[in-house]
Amino acid sequence: MTNSATAADDVRPIVIAHRGASGYLPEHTLAAKSLAHAMGADYLEQDVVLSKDGEPIVLHDIHLDTVTDVREQFPNRVRKDGRFYAIDFTAREIGRLNAHERIDLKTGRPVFPERFPLGKGRFHVPTLREELELVQGINRGTGREVGVYVEIKAPAWHRQEGKDSSAAVLELLDEFGYRRRADKCFVQCFDPRETRRLREELKTDLKLIQLIGENRRKEAAIDYDKLRTREGLKTIAEYADGIGPRLEHLVIANATAVRVDPLVGWAKEAGLALHPYTFRADSLPEFHALLGDEPDKQFDALLQLFFEKVKVEGLFTDFPDRAIAVRDAQSRAD
Ligand code: CA
Repeated sequence: MTNSATAADDVRPIVIAHRGASGYLPEHTLAAKSLAHAMGADYLEQDVVLSKDGEPIVLHDIHLDTVTDVREQFPNRVRKDGRFYAIDFTAREIGRLNAHERIDLKTGRPVFPERFPLGKGRFHVPTLREELELVQGINRGTGREVGVYVEIKAPAWHRQEGKDSSAAVLELLDEFGYRRRADKCFVQCFDPRETRRLREELKTDLKLIQLIGENRRKEAAIDYDKLRTREGLKTIAEYADGIGPRLEHLVIANATAVRVDPLVGWAKEAGLALHPYTFRADSLPEFHALLGDEPDKQFDALLQLFFEKVKVEGLFTDFPDRAIAVRDAQSRAD
């Protein structure tokens, strides 16, 4: 990677704080981002959707009801499907909501019960502008240039609603000085048509990452299994700098061992960086028993596997402190 970092940093894989230090504080709150910065994360992730007035908002879903008290504050703004959509609210209205740990709508219980207590503390959903101001402000004081890693959420859905989220995001990033490959900024998207559009039609020079999901999850109307073939990866390399696959896509686990999937070699051959998601200490992959007998050490073993054997260029984690500790212990041992 060519950026303003030192030579040592250039070869170290990057740790991307997934929705901030979301293992410790409610996702996508400025508190979670500040903590991730302090922990030493290289990049902070922003998922972005648009408000009614076209303002980029940092929010994982197009809905507000899994992470805020929108149902209590605006009971009449529900759509027929029972959901509350960010695009039906102005940025000012969204800013008034109280943000909390993600809940399962069916049960009302937190998705990760061991994390920050539900209903405690006071947090809000930030606009992308607020967040960029925060990151650059902390960068200035600490002298450490932490990057931003923006995801364009549900571009096709936004277009149906009459809005172009990619254009709005690029304009704002440009205003904050993020416009070239060398700048500390990635833009990621699950929809390959949109990622290509960012490069070819909107002509951004920023680093682009093609996210790869599961067909059954319906992140975009696309065949992800095809994208994960050697040919599919070559096509991605026409417009993107790397891929963001599920971590399970990069390894093959049988009953006794975990080995590296051929996808890894194909990506490297196509010149694509690998930034898999999501490394969570409290939600390990199905093959976790193969990572050692002691459950407490399985997460570190998982990180070590991806840094040392898979040799990723970066990874998304809810626990940036843990990933940094494992990565840096490894680089000292080299
Ligand atoms: Ca994301």
